[in-house]
Amino acid sequence: MALIVHKYGGTSMGSPERIRNVARRIAKWYAAGHQIVVVPSAISGETNRLIALAKEVSPDPDPRELDVIASTGEQVSVGLLAMALKDLGIKARSYAGWQVPIITDSAFTKARIESIGRDRIMSDLAAANVVIVTGFQGMDGDGNITTLGRGGSDTSAVAVAAALEAQECLIYTDVDGVYTTDPRIVPEARRLKVVSFEEMLELASLGSKVLQIRSVEFAGKYRVPVRVLSSLTDPLMSLSVESKSGTLITFEEDEHMEQAVITGIAFNRDEAKITLLGVPDRPGVAYKIVGPVAAANIDIDMIIQNQSVNGTTDFSFTVHRNDLAKALDVLKKQVKESVGAREIIGDANVAKVSAVGIGMRSHVGIAAQMFETLSRDGINIQMISTSEIKISVIIEDKYMELAVRALHKAFELEAQVGGAGLTLGA
Ligand code: ADP
Ligand code: ASP
Ligand code: MG
Repeated sequence: MALIVHKYGGTSMGSPERIRNVARRIAKWYAAGHQIVVVPSAISGETNRLIALAKEVSPDPDPRELDVIASTGEQVSVGLLAMALKDLGIKARSYAGWQVPIITDSAFTKARIESIGRDRIMSDLAAANVVIVTGFQGMDGDGNITTLGRGGSDTSAVAVAAALEAQECLIYTDVDGVYTTDPRIVPEARRLKVVSFEEMLELASLGSKVLQIRSVEFAGKYRVPVRVLSSLTDPLMSLSVESKSGTLITFEEDEHMEQAVITGIAFNRDEAKITLLGVPDRPGVAYKIVGPVAAANIDIDMIIQNQSVNGTTDFSFTVHRNDLAKALDVLKKQVKESVGAREIIGDANVAKVSAVGIGMRSHVGIAAQMFETLSRDGINIQMISTSEIKISVIIEDKYMELAVRALHKAFELEAQVGGAGLTLGA
């Protein structure tokens, strides 16, 4: 008998039939003697609908109230799932985040989990209940409802698993594992049986939305075994097959790791580029530009400064696309004159494409191969950043899918003929 956390995403909870299937799957695990805690997302589309509704009423909604609204999708899901389990004759209890409690900081719409109460869940489990806890939502120290950022139910699930010292956290979703890239963009993408924690962290942070980045961070910090697998298979399939299916995130680089140089290609359409033209090339200027942007709570991603000509240079950096207008406003009001920039340009038509792989450490020439591949398709690279295990480029967004496909092919990431099959949900 083991304590196992299951997480079901929006598509997995996408209709009454799918919710009943989730209940059947849980019932199978329960019948095998396991203690199960379930963390469901809102029904697919529901969080979007709630946020759109809020914005129809108030174009720039108050973040505290937005969280009150956006969190309700998950509350509906826990109730529905508990009912479906009870209909199968299984004892189940549903909880909202504040009831557990899942305590977060007060950063509405992107709160971080600080602690999770164990007592209520553990006593329910001891009384043979399946415990169902809302994903995505928590409560701050003042009792305000918070949410964890889009895709945050992954983080709720891994954090609950860490708090309960669960044996495994199973992330059930609409693909049957982590692929070499998003199979919606490259149908030839191949499922990885295992992926190292470090690579998963890079893939998630560079845009692979199969797992929210913070869930991977939690998994690493608390060494939670996480497996990504499909919720769209037969819910009554053999437990021994299901428990080994999907993709396992591993913490050891062992003999099971595939020996590829590049493990996956990630992409992100959420970036925007800002360029300050004609900036004096003097000590302290980078700080004067970046300081006020950071003070406005805007995260900066890539930064590049050109060679100076006649004492001036161009300085570019990227921010989240949603922060572009705010960042430009800060720069025009607080930076342009004090730094003496000639012009400030914002460009939302960019995307970031990244190649990730721990094999890069022991191979040279990967960057050259990447740049050559992009140049063959006439794709101009605007910015580059590298780490030990990744290379990222900023390109014009209309070339993003072309770049992903070309790199996926160039690094030979495709499935073998007759290889892994793919089941994608609606
Ligand atoms: P859920 O609602 O279950 O949380 P998400 O839509 O958040 O599901 O994440 C699953 C989706 O992530 C897949 O449908 C797929 O399109 C996308 N995805 C992006 N990159 C990858 C990848 N490398 N491997 C698998 N899926 C990926
Ligand atoms: N329902 C939330 C969202 O759509 C959280 C999640 O699905 O993980 O972002
Ligand atoms: Mg998700």
